[in-house]
Amino acid sequence: MKTPSAQRKGRAARATPPAPPSRTDLSADRRELAAFMRRLYRQRLTTTSGGNLSVRVDADSILLTASKHDKARLTAGQVCVLRLDGTNLTPGLTPSIEAGMHLAIYCRHPHVRAIVHAHPATATAFCAAREPINCRLIAEAYAVVGTPVWADYACMGSEGLAEAVAEAAGRGPCVLMANHGILTTGATLLEAFDCLEVLEIAAQTTLIVRQLGGGRPLDDDRLAELDRLMGRNRRA
Ligand SMILES: [Zn+2]
Repeated sequence: MKTPSAQRKGRAARATPPAPPSRTDLSADRRELAAFMRRLYRQRLTTTSGGNLSVRVDADSILLTASKHDKARLTAGQVCVLRLDGTNLTPGLTPSIEAGMHLAIYCRHPHVRAIVHAHPATATAFCAAREPINCRLIAEAYAVVGTPVWADYACMGSEGLAEAVAEAAGRGPCVLMANHGILTTGATLLEAFDCLEVLEIAAQTTLIVRQLGGGRPLDDDRLAELDRLMGRNRRA
């Protein structure tokens, strides 16, 4: 039951409509986000109802895909505008069930500007098997993904999942969500999308190389060379 003070706060919140984002024309950003969602579906990296994408548009606001829409035909008008405190500035739309997960990551990690979450079949199979995806077999995989990090299982849409994934996102841009799927972050949507796409290929490569007898992962000197090329410190 709500306390009287919470009820007063609720009435106050209804009485004062939320301020619009500081950037008022978000139509191009919403079109871009919808286009990436359709691309994700077209490339068979998500299902009709699965997956959610978001991008930060200013200090206080993000765009996030709405739930209950066909991901293959998502339009700009089906992209929500949310404040970081969760206020929905597009009340005609229901934000993705994973809104809390996206918001927790943006609140905790200001360098993150975009998030892609989906359940691509091969990479998600590794999440179900709790087996590592070997990103040291192919140079591109190590350069783009580095070393994926793990997040413990929690029910979809729960605070526990938001907490587990937000914590993991601080350890690397590619999160393997146990028994669930993949989440990638980036400075742009393209960067986060690239990371998820390359990870799915890395998962397929890991399986095939196992069937071929094990392969020869890149050694430490070769990995350090790639780290220098990408301008980063060695990833764990
Ligand atoms: Zn999911």
